[in-house]
Amino acid sequence: MTNILISGASIAGTATAYWLRRHGYTVTVVERAPAIRPGGYKVDVRGAALTVIERMGLLDAVRARGTDMRVATYYDAAGRPLAAVGADLFGGRTGDDAEIMRGDLNELLYDLTRDEVEYVFGDSITGIAEDGTVTFERSGPRTFDLVVGADGAHSNVRRLVFGPERDFTRDLGHYVSICTVPNTLGLDREEAVHAAAGRTANVYSTRQDTAAKALFMWSSPPLDHDHRDVAGQKKLLARAMDGAGWQVPALLEAVRDADDFYFDSVAQIHLDRWSKGRAVLVGDAGYCASPASGQGTSLALVGAYVLAGELATGGGTEGYERELRPFVAANQALGPANLKGMVIGSRAALWFQLTMMRLLPRLPGRDLMIERITGPIFRAANAITLKDYAR
Ligand SMILES: Cc1cc2nc3c(=O)[nH]c(=O)nc-3n(C[C@H](O)[C@H](O)[C@H](O)COP(=O)(O)OP(=O)(O)OC[C@H]3O[C@@H](n4cnc5c(N)ncnc54)[C@H](O)[C@@H]3O)c2cc1C
Repeated sequence: MTNILISGASIAGTATAYWLRRHGYTVTVVERAPAIRPGGYKVDVRGAALTVIERMGLLDAVRARGTDMRVATYYDAAGRPLAAVGADLFGGRTGDDAEIMRGDLNELLYDLTRDEVEYVFGDSITGIAEDGTVTFERSGPRTFDLVVGADGAHSNVRRLVFGPERDFTRDLGHYVSICTVPNTLGLDREEAVHAAAGRTANVYSTRQDTAAKALFMWSSPPLDHDHRDVAGQKKLLARAMDGAGWQVPALLEAVRDADDFYFDSVAQIHLDRWSKGRAVLVGDAGYCASPASGQGTSLALVGAYVLAGELATGGGTEGYERELRPFVAANQALGPANLKGMVIGSRAALWFQLTMMRLLPRLPGRDLMIERITGPIFRAANAITLKDYAR
């Protein structure tokens, strides 16, 4: 097996391309978007994923582009500050953990691979035959030994080879929306949060950003929405945030003009097998842990490293599943647990959380409480011993 096609050029796709190329494979990446997507939202790189980044020689570059966030402040509906938390604790980061914009990380991965990997933008796979013939929307048919689905939670490869999305989706009862808005609050490497029962609004601006990102999360039963109808999705967001105080009405105004609006249910992907025939899944396509886990990027980076390493050293896709399954399970478990702290269910629980945050610096058991927040994330992020597949 030498000739591999990857569908998707975000973190999982570009990282898999890097490791496969380094192990000597010929790699083609097909990406539906017309180019590598810039910007996005901030993501964490933790634990074993930091080791993967280091083995790619990117650790200094990732640190240099870090978000440098300082603090997160909670405000009440009238705009009064309620509690402030250090950015690392707010993001569940410990030790060397890094935070970077998704687009910046992907640009680094793309730059590392672009000279040795064939990237085909603006195209998508339409069929994968048993003999390895792959057909595309625009390009002519080509033959590959293996197709890697790295095309995200709504994976095209997974649908073509494994079956419909609903068979693998585990809904976590929430929605998330994020987009760029003007930095009217004058935020400098900080986030401003307004939490009410069942919904949270958050605005942040990172070191490099002259604008800000508005992030909304709320609990909701499944909504009937068309993923292409952005105007309809903005209305659903406005409805979910209706009546909220603080800066929410102004933010919703700004959201109307946003051209990078993202809206999706908070859900996970669970499959019994990540490989079938000539296809294998990596990253969100195979094991999306949801944005609530904070570990999707790290799963994609570690998954890419293990998949390429196992293919190159004879373990094959069986080896990939064996090595990665416990790590994925540990990190997916974070999703529902973290959600409870991100969108608080009741006023009483909200009052309790904000009081604890306010008192945290003075509490006697402070370190123990911090460990209760960051410990589970740290353990999950390190729940794999990476083999040395190096070449
Ligand atoms: C709001 C939000 C906040 C998040 N916060 C965090 C965080 O704090 N920490 C963290 O670790 N993770 C976070 N994540 C998750 C993280 O972004 C993903 O888990 C991570 O980027 C890995 O994604 P991926 O490469 O597997 O898929 P994606 O990033 O979804 O990329 C899939 C790629 O495939 C392409 N594609 C889709 N369909 C096709 C097709 N038919 N043909 C070709 N290409 C296709 C897409 O254009 C895209 O480039 C967050 C996600 C969201 C949405």
